[in-house]
Amino acid sequence: RSGSQKFTFQAEVNRLMDIIINSLYSNKDIFLRELISNASDALDKIRFLALTDASALGDGDDAELEIRISLDKEKNMISLRDRGVGMTKEHLVQHLGTIAKSGTSAFIEQMQKGGDVNLIGQFGVGFYSVYLVADFVEVISKHNDDKQHIWESKADGSFAVSEDTENEPLGRGTQINIYLKDDAAEYADQDKLKELVTKYSEFINFPIFLNTTSEVSEEVEIEDGEEEEDAEGDSEDDSEDDAEDSEEESEEEESEEEESEEEDSEEEDKPKTKTVTKTVAEWKLLNDNKAIWLKTPSEVTEEEYMKFYKAVSKTEEEPLTYSHFKAEGDVEFKAILYIPPTAPYDLFDNYYAKAAALKLYVRRVFISDEFDDLVPKYLSFLKGIVDSDTLPLNVSREMLQQHSSLKTIKKKLVRKALDMIRKIAEEKPEDDEEEKKEGEADEAEEKKSEDKETKYEKFWKAFGKAIKLGIIEDASNRTRLAKLLRFYTSQSEDKLTSLEEYVSRMKEGQTHIYYLAGASMDDVKGSPFLEKLLKEGFEVIYFTDPIDEYTMQNLTEFDDKRFANASKEDLSMGEKGKKQQEREKAIKDEFKPLTKWWKSALGANNAGNIDSVKVSTRLSTSPCIVVTSKYGWSANMERIMKAQAL
Ligand code: ADP
Ligand code: MG
Repeated sequence: RSGSQKFTFQAEVNRLMDIIINSLYSNKDIFLRELISNASDALDKIRFLALTDASALGDGDDAELEIRISLDKEKNMISLRDRGVGMTKEHLVQHLGTIAKSGTSAFIEQMQKGGDVNLIGQFGVGFYSVYLVADFVEVISKHNDDKQHIWESKADGSFAVSEDTENEPLGRGTQINIYLKDDAAEYADQDKLKELVTKYSEFINFPIFLNTTSEVSEEVEIEDGEEEEDAEGDSEDDSEDDAEDSEEESEEEESEEEESEEEDSEEEDKPKTKTVTKTVAEWKLLNDNKAIWLKTPSEVTEEEYMKFYKAVSKTEEEPLTYSHFKAEGDVEFKAILYIPPTAPYDLFDNYYAKAAALKLYVRRVFISDEFDDLVPKYLSFLKGIVDSDTLPLNVSREMLQQHSSLKTIKKKLVRKALDMIRKIAEEKPEDDEEEKKEGEADEAEEKKSEDKETKYEKFWKAFGKAIKLGIIEDASNRTRLAKLLRFYTSQSEDKLTSLEEYVSRMKEGQTHIYYLAGASMDDVKGSPFLEKLLKEGFEVIYFTDPIDEYTMQNLTEFDDKRFANASKEDLSMGEKGKKQQEREKAIKDEFKPLTKWWKSALGANNAGNIDSVKVSTRLSTSPCIVVTSKYGWSANMERIMKAQAL
């Protein structure tokens, strides 16, 4: 093309495209979902801009926020057209080739480990999935701030961008022309496209039309002397008509037929007829863009909730659980919250910079899916949608961010989310009941159901860290969150247990909840800090996650029992009798010369190696132990801080 400027893809993007174009992955269907999702995002953007600047939307057809898909069988090409925000030349260059998203290399890594291409959308590189089915792609785009440009690439390491003077002006928006590879010819089929749109994109909030053609047979009389010929006419519809309009048109055609029949009936002879086949093209609406979150829960089926999750998460996975509710009162909103079955690859990256992944709508208008502070950071793993009637529509995102109702929404969302998590924590293992009904199933089966992870175990594996972060961050929900904690203990080494269970097992007279933190299970289990506690029959919680000690610094008690770190001095093991106290005092006095000597030998005063040397009762077999002071960091904490300072 004349005047076109050539660019090379950013290196990572190039690698990604190589992997995609050479992929033998059989499920190539997802490309359409990704492109439709981009079209929908672009439509959301222009609708949002139009809230504060009505002129952004334009008028006439440009104001129709919709997506149209058409098929050119001869060229083996699919076109996808949206009236979204469009892209300037600079956007085309940056977003489709020269700037790599943070997910690019992470996705490449996943793919090399045999990961699922299906998850591409989660990594923010969904566009490139078009090369699963195409060997050549054109992106024609018109943004309000620029002329119409065309981007094109054969995925051969480079792409070109030029001002578009050949194609029809788009007004505003983007058209993607997908030239199918030979082995993807199956997509040049309207039934296939229809199937894909209904499968993956039924919850898209804008109408999606497919240009369909159908054969219509009609009886037509033959006039005398007329030659027998196949009257196959291509009645191409004006592409701007929608389904209803074209229906009207075909009705018109029918009525013409009727008229001619009337003329015939005037004649006595039976007219000679023949059958002609006409091809009628029409735009068919494929989705009914329903907002399931606005319905009452009883109107929504389980299957719809599952499908909606897949649409929201852009995966084929099923969520662990969901909660659909309505908040009433001063602040009104409807929401569906989901817990994903697994953690996304980057859940805790840039933790403090990240916004909630929930989609925020105001009266069905999409506002943002990176709204700061819709839920606290630790709940950013939640997926779903929040639609509020109370928030104002025609203000900027920044203004909305400050709105007083947001605090109430946030508070309610947190409560509902924690309720939802508590519910799965209380659930019995899924298959238990079925197994029982079958009576004495063979032992292998029973064993299997025992081994089977419960929903909550799955949750804990994926998001346990989030709960621990919650205890640190969210003082007002600390007790609720503490109930959700799970850990191994000296009495439950293979099965995760909870604080409530720990407390129910506490010995008579036990005043504290004991825990010990270390680098690994072996490390903790073999620690001399445990000796006396275990000998006395106290249960000790084993913490091996670096975050655990931070969490415990924020959680001082549970159910009125204080926590005690087993690696600290003055570990209390319940009330001591008077006799015992006297005996300990006597021993302390007896060994004073030794402790004094020891303290000076280790240079306590000048070198600062130790604080003090004490006779204690906490050991049973080891002769001595180094502990940390009540007020300082534990040795494990020092280890963690050192590792982080690197
Ligand atoms: P993501 O959608 O997660 O941002 P994609 O790889 O799917 O990642 O798209 C990359 C970027 O290209 C988008 O963020 C958007 O800026 C731009 N883009 C893609 N398709 C369109 C479109 N139809 N209209 C406007 N911009 C688009
Ligand atoms: Mg995308």
